[in-house]
Amino acid sequence: MLLAEERNALAQAGRRLADRGLVIGTSGNLSVRSGDLVAVTPTGGVLSELTAEQMTVIGLDGAVADGDLAPTSEVPMHLAIYQATVANAIAHTHATTSVAIGLVAGEIPLVHYAMLSLGGAVRVAPYACYGTEELAAHVVRALESRQAALMRNHGSIAIGSSLAKATDNLELLEWAAQTYHQALLAGAVTGQRPRELTAQEADEVITAALATGYGTTKRLDGKAPGQ
Ligand code: 13P
Ligand code: ZN
Repeated sequence: MLLAEERNALAQAGRRLADRGLVIGTSGNLSVRSGDLVAVTPTGGVLSELTAEQMTVIGLDGAVADGDLAPTSEVPMHLAIYQATVANAIAHTHATTSVAIGLVAGEIPLVHYAMLSLGGAVRVAPYACYGTEELAAHVVRALESRQAALMRNHGSIAIGSSLAKATDNLELLEWAAQTYHQALLAGAVTGQRPRELTAQEADEVITAALATGYGTTKRLDGKAPGQ
């Protein structure tokens, strides 16, 4: 089986996203790149139930290299992203609050410093029918210098250097959408718009996070982890 490890990782990622409530029915698709090959979920598959054998391997031209099932209808979008970015993995679902915010906002502004790991404010890609080159082009533009984007009247998408990173980013995006949504509701009561971080505050966080290795544990004796 070609890309056995990657296909197995796709099956696990699908279960994880479903366990966290980000997958509805057969919505969503995942892929992971290895050199000139890409392992993708099959079209019509329920992400939480797929096995490694049910994944499909395609080339960067979209031709099927291995597998029994037709690949996701979003092959144009996945391939366009691999062409335009250095991402090694892509996760796309129809997570509820991400869809909702995409319907009523032009972006998720930078309302929390954790969003800086997605590249800052999250754009909303204009609507186009699923599976089209037009949608692929919209999403590639929305992802410029970003690790995630919303897709209007459709869903959310995240990329990463690994499948674990892409799924982490998709979950972080849904969290940001939920947080922004709640702030909008609360703000409607208090009459205030959600406060955004200033550019200076964002720079300060980036400098601190790079200096301290934000999000990683540190040994008190200063040794590297595992030593
Ligand atoms: P596929 O089942 O073809 O992957 O389509 C689901 C989807 O989310 C389309 O955007
Ligand atoms: Zn979709």
